[in-house]
Amino acid sequence: MEHLEAGALLAAWEAGLASDDRGRALLLHGLARPGAGAGELLSVPVGRRDAELFAVRRALFGAELEVRADCAECGEEMEFSFDAAGLGTDGPGATQDGTVRIEEGEWTVEFRLPTPDDLAAAGTVPGDRARAALLARCVVRAERGGGPVTGPDLPEPVQRRIAAASEASDPLADVTLNVACPACGKATRAELDIASYLWAELDAWARDTLLDVHLLATAYGWSEPEILALSPLRRRYYLELCADA
Ligand SMILES: [Zn+2]
Repeated sequence: MEHLEAGALLAAWEAGLASDDRGRALLLHGLARPGAGAGELLSVPVGRRDAELFAVRRALFGAELEVRADCAECGEEMEFSFDAAGLGTDGPGATQDGTVRIEEGEWTVEFRLPTPDDLAAAGTVPGDRARAALLARCVVRAERGGGPVTGPDLPEPVQRRIAAASEASDPLADVTLNVACPACGKATRAELDIASYLWAELDAWARDTLLDVHLLATAYGWSEPEILALSPLRRRYYLELCADA
């Protein structure tokens, strides 16, 4: 990902400062697909998007993630590393356009894998109706005994089948880590939200980078583009020289 150069990263960071979590996820996803418009980005299934965010993370900061979580049992704060090297492959079953087909009894249902937009829309309705709202958005076609069915009422087994097929086809939509607490030994499930994780890292990186620019511009009179064009190694070297002087 050669296009992930410092200027583009700082531009994404600057735009993200004034944005919310969804806007930041969109900006980060844009780094994975340079030139893509918001419409294209928002039509990508959530798991596919997260796979692309993991790829950006690997390119920028490596495959190993430091994750923090609190033990659900004793409250102990845990820190552990997670290797994201193997993440990023598509699950089976989804077609190119992200639709999946399931059969359950006399039912045949074709549905789209949920996108960030779908989840956000379903997230605005009360908990017990959220799943129905998500299905209403994502079911493309439903047939019972060969005849088309309209309306939201899919029987429970069909809904469960859809949820399972969705998870299998878009496995990264929900990255859950199972970690054993070093204090009490109980296992805790920790969700890893790569969009907010990567945003926090980009934010720290950007602030460090701007500090480097400030120090080098002050010492040498170089412009921001000149300093950003230096390799990290050379930048570090000049900073050491400034500190020694
Ligand atoms: Zn514990």
